[in-house]
Amino acid sequence: MYKIALFRGDGIGPEVAEQAVKVIRKVGEISHVVFDLSEALLGGASIDEYERPVTPEALALARNSDAVLIGAVGGPQWDNLETSMRPESGLLELRRSLETYANLRPVHVFPSLENHSTLKEEVIRGLDFLIVRELTGGIYFGTPRGIQKLTEGVERGVNTEVYTTPQIERIAHRAFSFARKRRRKVTSVDKANILESSQLWRKVVTRVHRQYQDVTLDYRYVDDCAMQLVRNPKQFDVIVTTNLFGDILSDESAMLTGSIGMLPSASLGDRHAIYEPVHGSAPDITGKDMANPIAAILSVAMMMEYSFHLLDVAKSIEDAVSRTLAEGYRTADIDGGGAKRVSCSVMGDLIQSRIGL
Ligand code: NAD
Repeated sequence: MYKIALFRGDGIGPEVAEQAVKVIRKVGEISHVVFDLSEALLGGASIDEYERPVTPEALALARNSDAVLIGAVGGPQWDNLETSMRPESGLLELRRSLETYANLRPVHVFPSLENHSTLKEEVIRGLDFLIVRELTGGIYFGTPRGIQKLTEGVERGVNTEVYTTPQIERIAHRAFSFARKRRRKVTSVDKANILESSQLWRKVVTRVHRQYQDVTLDYRYVDDCAMQLVRNPKQFDVIVTTNLFGDILSDESAMLTGSIGMLPSASLGDRHAIYEPVHGSAPDITGKDMANPIAAILSVAMMMEYSFHLLDVAKSIEDAVSRTLAEGYRTADIDGGGAKRVSCSVMGDLIQSRIGL
C-alpha cells in the first residue's frame, strides 16, 4: 500500500487533479496495488479556510505520505496579500519542508502533436530532453529579501540569489545520474559571466562531473540557452540549472510540446517527492471544464516510476495518453482545428479507460 497526499489547490487545480485521481484509481484496480489517498488544502483554498497558505497539519500529512500530488495554486483574489501569505508561499513551504530539491521536467513531444507546436515540425519532431531544476535554493529562498521604504515615495526591492556548495553538489549528482539513463549529456545553465553565485555553480558542477566521466558536460549562459531552445532544442539531453532559470526555461520548453498543459513534473528529495503539473491555476479558464489534464496525469505516471518503481504502470499511463491523442482527442489548448474537441473531464475518462497492463 502506498500513501498519497493530495492537494487539489486552486483554479483549474481541482479540475485536473480529479482526472489524475481517476487514473490512480484505475491503476489501483488493475495492478492490485492499494493507493491510499488523503487530502488537505493548499494555497488559496487553505488561506480561505485557515488564513494561511499551508497549515502544520497539511505539512505533516505530506511528510507522512509516500508521495504528494498537487493540482495548482494561486489566483487573482489572493494577489494583494503580503508575500508570506500568498498561495505560492504555501507551495514553497511544502517544497522546503520536504526538501524536494530536484525538480524534473521532462520535455517530450508526442508524435500526434508534432504539428501543433509554434515551431517547425522538423525542429521538434522526436524531441525528448529533461530539465533538472534546483528547487529549494536560489533567489526564491535567499535572504535578505523584501521591500523597504527609503524616503517618501521611494522604495527598494531586494532579493538574493544564493547557493552553497552542498546544494549545487546534490543537484549535479542527480543530473549526471539521470543522464546515465539517457543519452549521457548534461548542459549546465548559469550566468557565470555576471553572477558570482553562477561562478560557484559552474565550479562545483565541473568538480562533480569528474565522477561521471562517461557523461559529456557542456555549459550555456541562460540567455543563450533560451535562444538555443527555440533554435535547435534537440541538442539537449539533460539541462541542469538554478531555481529561477529553470522556472523560466521550463515554461519556454513547455511551448515546444504544444501547450503548458502537457508538461508534468516531479520534485525529488532524499526522502520525499512531490508530483505536479508545471502549469499554474489558469484563472482565465477556471470552472469551464476546458483545462488540459494531461500534465497532471503524466505527473501520476512519474509518481509510479520514481516513488513506487512501478515501471509497467507508468508506461501504461503514458501509452494511454499517447493512444488517446493518436485517436485525435484534444482539449482546447492543443486543438489545431478539425480534431475531436473534448472537455477536461472527458479527456480524463478517455485516458483512464485506455489504461491496460
Ligand atoms: P498559468 O500556467 O496558470 O497559465 C498560463 C496560460 O496557460 C493561461 O492562458 C492558461 O489558461 C494556460 N494554461 C495553463 N494550464 C493549462 C492547462 N492545463 N490547460 C490549458 N491551458 C492551460 O500561469 P499564470 O497565468 O502565470 O498564473 C496563474 C496563477 O497560477 C498565478 O496565481 C500564479 O502564481 C499561479 N501559478 C501556480 C503554479 C503552481 O501551482 N505550481 C505555477 C505557475 C503559476
